[in-house]
Amino acid sequence: MTPIKNAPRIMMRQLHEIMASADDAEERLNRVVQLVASNMVAEVCSAYFIRGDDILELFATEGLKSEAVHQTRLHVGEGLVGLVAATGSSLNLSNAQDHPKFAYRPETGEEIYKSMMAVPILRMGKVVGVLVVQNQASRHYSEEEEEALQTIAMVLAELVVSGDLITAHDQNDEDSEHGVISRYEGMVFAEGLAEGVVVMHEPKVEVTQHLSEDYERQLKRLDKGFRNLLRQIDEIMSAEDILHHGEHREILDVYKLFAQDKGWRLKIETAIESGLTAEAAVEKIQIENRSKMMKTEDPYLRERLSDLDDLANRLIRHLMGKVGTAATKTLPENAVVVSNNMGPAELLEYDRDKLKAVVLQEGSPTSHVAIVARALGIPMIGQLKGNLLEVDEGVSIIVQGLEGEIFIDPPPEIIETYRDTISARAKLLARYDNMRDKPVVTKDGVEIELVVNGGLEMDIEGMHRTGAKGVGLFRTEFQFMISKTLPRIHPQAEFYKSIIDAADGKPVTFRTLDIGGDKEVSFLKRDNEENPALGWRAIRIALDRPALLRYQLRALITAAAGTTLNVMFPMITNVSEFKLARSILDKELERHKKNNRPLPKDIKVGTMLEVPSLVWQLDDLLPLVDFISIGSNDLMQFFYASDRENPKLSNRYDILSPPSLNMLRFIVDKCAAANVPLTLCGEIGGRTIGALALIAIGFRRLSIAPSAVGPVKMMIRSLNLSELVPYVDQLLSRSDHSIRSDLKAFAHDHGVKI
Ligand code: PEP
Ligand code: MG
Repeated sequence: MTPIKNAPRIMMRQLHEIMASADDAEERLNRVVQLVASNMVAEVCSAYFIRGDDILELFATEGLKSEAVHQTRLHVGEGLVGLVAATGSSLNLSNAQDHPKFAYRPETGEEIYKSMMAVPILRMGKVVGVLVVQNQASRHYSEEEEEALQTIAMVLAELVVSGDLITAHDQNDEDSEHGVISRYEGMVFAEGLAEGVVVMHEPKVEVTQHLSEDYERQLKRLDKGFRNLLRQIDEIMSAEDILHHGEHREILDVYKLFAQDKGWRLKIETAIESGLTAEAAVEKIQIENRSKMMKTEDPYLRERLSDLDDLANRLIRHLMGKVGTAATKTLPENAVVVSNNMGPAELLEYDRDKLKAVVLQEGSPTSHVAIVARALGIPMIGQLKGNLLEVDEGVSIIVQGLEGEIFIDPPPEIIETYRDTISARAKLLARYDNMRDKPVVTKDGVEIELVVNGGLEMDIEGMHRTGAKGVGLFRTEFQFMISKTLPRIHPQAEFYKSIIDAADGKPVTFRTLDIGGDKEVSFLKRDNEENPALGWRAIRIALDRPALLRYQLRALITAAAGTTLNVMFPMITNVSEFKLARSILDKELERHKKNNRPLPKDIKVGTMLEVPSLVWQLDDLLPLVDFISIGSNDLMQFFYASDRENPKLSNRYDILSPPSLNMLRFIVDKCAAANVPLTLCGEIGGRTIGALALIAIGFRRLSIAPSAVGPVKMMIRSLNLSELVPYVDQLLSRSDHSIRSDLKAFAHDHGVKI
């Protein structure tokens, strides 16, 4: 088989002639499969296209029996061709019949062909067909051959665009039969409520011209396209509000680095030289990148895929003179932007007064765009069940970003319920605001300290807004998760200082890096672990890679010069780990002193308590620490051997039950006896019923999400603790699975606002 690489231009020219000819679509398709078969020295070349929702039909073949054309049909997912259509990934097999998915169709006569290569025919990222070559001999097709077939498949998508081969109706059976559904569920990425009209983020730009013989002109167009793209990114980056937000800025720096990647550009240029237009070359390389990145297990890389998609689409729009997402058009006053996914830069381009919410078909709650949405207070729902991309622009939409519901063209009852939710929420939020300066004290005078959990600059605003007394847990890993490279000491120190300054004298407890488990960072390669939550994470990584911890501690010491540095370590499992971490801190302090650098006025060093083994070492641990903070999210997943991320287990064991509450009470008593301040910073403290139980067993300091401060404070101010304590005492001597309903009954009977 002659690799196309050796004669790419000739073949591309022939392809160009065929596609530009006056023949009808089916005839052009027949000529293309003949061309491919002869140029690639394949005995068979066949093209399948999707009809209706999931039927793949053989439309043309060179080599298989001609009677099979329009007769052979497969479901998407059926056989090898169906597998390519279902996954959108190519197959390259030297012995296709050995593949478990191989399905033999007698009418085609394909039983004599051993080797097979099949690539998806993609139109705007969606599979519309499959292009296949086969040979009798068992052979492996080279990477160049695979790339060449992909290019041809891309050009074939033009036949679908024109609608001559398959009518729009044929492609879209399902909609016409069932109509568009009007309620969707998804995951809340950023909380909030919004009502508005659908605006499609990307007014669809379709590459219509794939082939060009004038590659020099195409290279010039590409060069101009890149210049425009970089100028556009610079413009976004110099926008006023971004300059002042370190976090956004870093995200965009990464984005710009991608745009300047030489390898990416070189691949596009090579594709142009093979005979593609500049826009088709960008599309081709993006298809390849997508297919490679979709195969990776690495969540960080998968998330970066949306950045790359975003850049490629942007470049294509520049090349086709269709610059700008919906952000650059005149938006309606109440725009709810719908997109498959979105890059952070694209979100930042929208007029924040008009953008009411964002709905992403895919996306991930830890992606950059979700982090930015939370920072900007824009409600965002993602990972939808059902395809929202098929709805029409301009229809009305409700985004219920508390439970994660979306309504399209909602009937009056839904609108009414939604408006009730909004006004109830607004009233409630106003009541919480009014309580801002009221003391957090029970009716019988017991004071409780509420502090917040954070990891972003905006959480400090949340602390001030709610009147919380400080930050009980600052998750420093967020900074690392949005960074492509290891953040250097100076920017780290600047960021921590900005947090300390913003807190305006209120204490901030920094937790050193808690990466690993579900929190991935790009600069640290980790093995695939069987049980990542029980694996190489947090302090375990820090002690094995002490430079990481040392630099972070150095940055924290620098940032806290002249004030109190509160620092704690995550996932400490035995006392020796704490001692080791503490000694690294002491060494850094020594170094600082020796270099005559300004030191913190005071240093408080504590530990997270989130591994059960540490509970049984408290007698040894407590004399060494200045404070303890219980990470109940992790502590309970280990206590109950129940994965905190697994939705199937979320209701199986209740933290509000005698075994867990008795253990927590044991810790409270130990800390009280040793006079060591204790905080709990897990999610349970932010739920009113959870806080009720925790206060009953002796907790006096809770670190919770800023949005939880209002409700928890309201509960505390309505509680008479002396009535609750004996009630909970007797519940904890029982062996119940949960005491949640007993607590609710108590609250109900005693007017406690939960
Ligand atoms: C915890 O485990 O309870 C905790 C606060 O830490 P994280 O949720 O960040 O693991
Ligand atoms: Mg934890």
